[in-house]
Amino acid sequence: MSAAPLSLFNTLTRRVEPLVPLAPPRVTLYTCGPTVWNFAHIGNFRTFLFEDLLRRWLEQSGYDVFHIMNLTDVDDRTIKAARQAGKSLVDHTAPFTKAFFEDRDYLRIKPAHVYTPATAYMPQMIDLVTKLLERGVAYEGDDGSVYFAINRFPTYGRLSQLDKREIKVGARVASDEYAKGDPSDFALWKKADAEDEAVGAAWDAPFGRGRPGWHLECSAMSLSEIAKCCGVQTLDIHAGGIDLIFPHHENEIAQSEGATGQQFARHWVHGEFLNVRGTKMSKRHGNFLTARDLREQGVDAAAVRLLFFQTHYRQPVDFNDDALAAAGEGVRRISEFRNRLEQASHAKPDQSALAELSRQLRADMTEALNNDLNAPQAVATLFDFVRAANRELDQGSGGSAEALAVLTEFAARVLDIFPTPRKSDQALESWIEAQVAARNQARKSKDFKAADAIRAELRTKGVEIEDTPTGTKWRVV
Ligand code: AMP
Ligand code: ZN
Repeated sequence: MSAAPLSLFNTLTRRVEPLVPLAPPRVTLYTCGPTVWNFAHIGNFRTFLFEDLLRRWLEQSGYDVFHIMNLTDVDDRTIKAARQAGKSLVDHTAPFTKAFFEDRDYLRIKPAHVYTPATAYMPQMIDLVTKLLERGVAYEGDDGSVYFAINRFPTYGRLSQLDKREIKVGARVASDEYAKGDPSDFALWKKADAEDEAVGAAWDAPFGRGRPGWHLECSAMSLSEIAKCCGVQTLDIHAGGIDLIFPHHENEIAQSEGATGQQFARHWVHGEFLNVRGTKMSKRHGNFLTARDLREQGVDAAAVRLLFFQTHYRQPVDFNDDALAAAGEGVRRISEFRNRLEQASHAKPDQSALAELSRQLRADMTEALNNDLNAPQAVATLFDFVRAANRELDQGSGGSAEALAVLTEFAARVLDIFPTPRKSDQALESWIEAQVAARNQARKSKDFKAADAIRAELRTKGVEIEDTPTGTKWRVV
């Protein structure tokens, strides 16, 4: 476990607070996943990447994380999109779920321990509605749908700091999304209409044939999974983008706590938006880019990760090509530095200035990340270190083993920002090794002309070699 505890901003209290899991070292983490009506855009992935960093940092700090992510494969949007495509719900969403996993892997996001597609949790959702009806916090409306009665849940509005005076008793809203200005009884279960039936989005239930509301899904799935894994009814961390605070997370709390009588999540963590020229990236605004667009443009996932981590998760990021190119340059620098360390001598004892810098880097990055996941500060510290360490290497300092270790820990394992190795790199490497061996052979037999020719050949490929007491080192410049 790291020395200072990890503190995170908690939307519930609007304060940065130490994370206090129910049963450490276990941390249960639920992150609202993609709605698979279409390809996820990189705005969605900004949220998933901040959650990836949170997950990795928790693990690096010694926590045993149990990460659940849902896949919204039935809601207003998926049904509408399936209808427009003339497909069944499952035929429409399945390819987008597959694409989401591909994009996740491209961006090197660690897979959750469980993915919960909403359509696979109907019995749990029906149980939850039944419980809420029994407890008198839900009622069947005259339209055949079941609603949550927000005035029967006294703490309704706490997460989103809703002005209670605005609550209009009896007003109802059936759609999944609505504004904070219209807090109303929301649909838990929507009576099936012809469109739902046409796409296969209708299930039988004691309170009528229908389909779940979007908010109900996350409550039912998260409660079901944490009961299964850990025998609890309270999540340690619930995360998502800030647009989910109201109504989605407010309603998740109402449904879950209304049914269990226990706190639903101890820590609520929300990430800011990815914007394009100040406007939220979204399908609706048409200003979006998908992960596959970037991949097709040959953008290295490491650059995307670095770009996003250069801004604190609670600050908006503006996406543009220049920022992405600059991040690509950063990734190149850090990778060159690693190459240099690998070529440097590891023989000297680790009492050097470089070793001392490395230990300081570990302490500074730990402090930054423990302070509300301050990735931009961690990244800035890392690049300061690269500059200082390069100076030490110029002066022949040892201690590169210590530097490599800290780089592996933070730049590889936590931030994961080293360039993606290209397939051809391996072939190139074997070729270089063979050339170096041939040159050494030539030198041994005093055929210096042949040795020089090989060196010249290597140079045309951008490879510099250096003969050191411990052997010939090479690097790509
Ligand atoms: P959705 O697929 O719409 O259910 O959204 C998936 C996740 O992406 C949610 O956590 C949203 O809060 C988040 N999200 C949506 N748009 C953006 C954006 N422009 N920037 C950051 N996160 C976003
Ligand atoms: Zn959710």
